[in-house]
Amino acid sequence: MAKDEDYVIVTKGLTKEYPFGETTIKAINGIDFAIKKGEYATIVGPSGSGKTTFLNLIGTIDNPTSGEIFFNGRKVSEMTGKEIRELRRTKIGFVFQAFNLLEILTTAENIALPMIINGTPAVEREERVQELLEIIGLPDRGEHFPMELSGGQRQRVAIARSLANKPEVILLDEPTGQVDSNTSREIMDYLLKINREEGVTLIVVTHEDMIASESRRPLTIIDGKIYEGILESFLDIKAIQEGTL
Ligand code: ADP
Ligand code: MG
Repeated sequence: MAKDEDYVIVTKGLTKEYPFGETTIKAINGIDFAIKKGEYATIVGPSGSGKTTFLNLIGTIDNPTSGEIFFNGRKVSEMTGKEIRELRRTKIGFVFQAFNLLEILTTAENIALPMIINGTPAVEREERVQELLEIIGLPDRGEHFPMELSGGQRQRVAIARSLANKPEVILLDEPTGQVDSNTSREIMDYLLKINREEGVTLIVVTHEDMIASESRRPLTIIDGKIYEGILESFLDIKAIQEGTL
């Protein structure tokens, strides 16, 4: 049996409701979930099923309507605002589908941002930036601006930035949503390498079958609920909802 401290994130009965006219929409509908340190999981699911809401909740940038989130065994709802900001700054990295980089800053400055916010000394910061540029295969692009990079290179820089403060978890919301399949392959190869070599826990929301099918832990979100595995069709989904699968 895995112990509580083996898990980096645990959710219990996680629910998020949004008001909708006279009623409410349950964007997240009672999710029990746990992910161990160093795991690599993917999430697929139809548009509007709650994938982004789920990432935002476990990333502590949104609050649940009910239910609990535990980070390294601690209840997030019992942390102070200061502790939550600290958690978000040092333990969690985010990568979004697009618009990840600030165009007026160089690649190196973009990667350094989380460390500047964190008060990391300049010398240490510069060493880490160089180390990260090497990890993502762009050792000599530090002085380039984002507009001088390809879509795939930009996403690799966004990934490097999410790694800057050596987080325990990186949450990626469709990171390959705006690139072609070869570029997507290249981005995923870097992510897998980072997972392997740096031991970072990765949760990747994706619409790509290729990515989901390679994952050691493919998950599916449908109607605000989470399932282990990839559900092949809406027939499966219906059967699950009706309890006949
Ligand atoms: P996905 O990322 O899987 O496409 P989302 O998590 O963005 O889905 O959305 C899940 C559901 O919650 C959708 O029905 C969406 O319309 C609703 N929703 C998301 N964010 C908000 C919001 N800020 N206000 C109201 N409804 C929202
Ligand atoms: Mg989304």
